[in-house]
Amino acid sequence: MSDNLSELNLPHRLLLGPGPSLVHPRVYRAMTQPVIGMFDPVFIQLLDDTQRPLRTVFRTENDFTMAISGTGTAGMEAAIYNVVEPGDTVVVCRNGYFGMRMSEMVERCGATVVPVEAGWGRIIEPEQVEAALKSAGPVKVVAIVHGETSTGVLQPIAEISRLAHEHGALILADAVTSLSGCELLIDEWGIDVCYSGTQKCLSAPPGMAPITVSAQALEVIANRGEPVRSWYFDMTMLGRYWGGGSTTRAYHHTPPMTMLYALREGLRIVLEEGLEPRIERHKRNARAFWAGIEAMGLALHVAEEHRLTPLTTVRVPEGIDEMALRQGLLLEHNIEIGRGFGALEGQVWRVGLMGVGSSAENVLALLFALEAQLLKQGFGLDRGAGVAAAARSLNAH
Ligand SMILES: *Cc1c(COP(=O)(O)O)cnc(C)c1O
Repeated sequence: MSDNLSELNLPHRLLLGPGPSLVHPRVYRAMTQPVIGMFDPVFIQLLDDTQRPLRTVFRTENDFTMAISGTGTAGMEAAIYNVVEPGDTVVVCRNGYFGMRMSEMVERCGATVVPVEAGWGRIIEPEQVEAALKSAGPVKVVAIVHGETSTGVLQPIAEISRLAHEHGALILADAVTSLSGCELLIDEWGIDVCYSGTQKCLSAPPGMAPITVSAQALEVIANRGEPVRSWYFDMTMLGRYWGGGSTTRAYHHTPPMTMLYALREGLRIVLEEGLEPRIERHKRNARAFWAGIEAMGLALHVAEEHRLTPLTTVRVPEGIDEMALRQGLLLEHNIEIGRGFGALEGQVWRVGLMGVGSSAENVLALLFALEAQLLKQGFGLDRGAGVAAAARSLNAH
């Protein structure tokens, strides 16, 4: 066998799964800009330029607002490892896969997890968190997922955040799927630590994790009894590079410049569209998709009032081979959607309408392809009803 590789030539898939989502063409273009030095004044300016729009999309004035090198999970790890220490008690809301992942990280920090649980597809009720806060003794942090990508639930946070503060705890939220796709008000809701990822609604490739930290949380971090066990994600050191003045900026690690160009362009696109219109667009297209799915005789897994617009879970009907359907979508229609896993293994498909991928065209294309694949498996449906219902919904909104 020869060691020579052929030129890379990958298909342009329509990515309508739980992530990665479609990358905006302008983001790809920004990524071809030259790599420059990490202390180059031009690059430092780029860091500063990125922090301001990040504060805008997080709806925060937090000084500590930056991006961690790594995917959404790196953001989760940075958030948890910096605020949690051995011996702490942390209330972790677990109603899906990502809450479970947070729980594992908290345990790895040597802290005690007080779980608050709900079924996969339901929200965590504030009363549950309140009961945990009352019975657990001093709680340092309440950890919660805003948009649960494994279940399609949008978790209301404001009331839970208020309860956490009432009991002297910080609140830490995962907004990997929700940032710039759903309403998320860091300051108004009082969220202390919140992280996201570039690869969901920001329409950039996976690789950076935007994060914002309140002054109270920074104080908790500054008063830790022992150093953060992760060197790479030590926020105090990261802050010295991102936030330091031109003379005090210290080398910590080489930032992946290309990903910062991607994030910057992704944010520029969000601000051009406007945060509110963008969130509206995610709603409008998700509603059209939901209308189409129901008109085809399929069911949605989550009650309408708790549905996450960037990610929808569709119930797999009786007698349908869910994997064969996904394969048909990919190979015959070039469309990727996701499978259910964990408690929803084999029960749902996960459809992402995120960032640039959330469009009327994509909703209609997916419904058309889904119909073809369902008919192929002998599912009885009213031909064209899904696309028609979605089109009606789009015209009405
Ligand atoms: C995708 C996702 C993550 C993890 O992000 P990666 O980029 O896969 O590391 C974490 N939390 C939620 C809610 C997600 O949707």
